[in-house]
Amino acid sequence: MTRPPRGGESSAPATWAEHAFRVLAARGHRAGGARAAVIEMLADSGGCLTARELERQLAGRARPVGIATIYRALAALEDAGLVHAVDLGGAERHFELVHDDGSHHHHVVCDRCGSKIAFSDPELERAIAAIGERLGAEVEAHDVVLHGECRRCAGRS
Ligand SMILES: [Zn+2]
Ligand SMILES: [Zn+2]
Ligand SMILES: [Zn+2]
Repeated sequence: MTRPPRGGESSAPATWAEHAFRVLAARGHRAGGARAAVIEMLADSGGCLTARELERQLAGRARPVGIATIYRALAALEDAGLVHAVDLGGAERHFELVHDDGSHHHHVVCDRCGSKIAFSDPELERAIAAIGERLGAEVEAHDVVLHGECRRCAGRS
């Protein structure tokens, strides 16, 4: 689920990673080396990763992190509202960074080759907000995933 910005809240500019370390510390998690590595890798990559992809990327660095540790770290981050999981149709969920200002992206997923294209679109966001207003609903989050064939699979390359 993707949440829009919370109105009237001002936060000092901090990177997502700094914010994540602060929030987890406030929740009583100690900043272990493995968890810190997961947070830093997520921040470096900008999110959009499955636990297995994180494991592969971390394996390329100085210290590999076990998959169980990665799942635990992601669960703690999800619990704290620092990441959200999106279902892009594959076996594994993708984890996205949750930014304080509500900035986020959505995806087009190719159902043939599994490639995913991220996009953000202010007009789409305005349209979603307008739908909520029209229906008199308090819309707090939304999921948007477009499915189809990518340019290459559709033979348009
Ligand atoms: Zn993404
Ligand atoms: Zn494709
Ligand atoms: Zn959106």
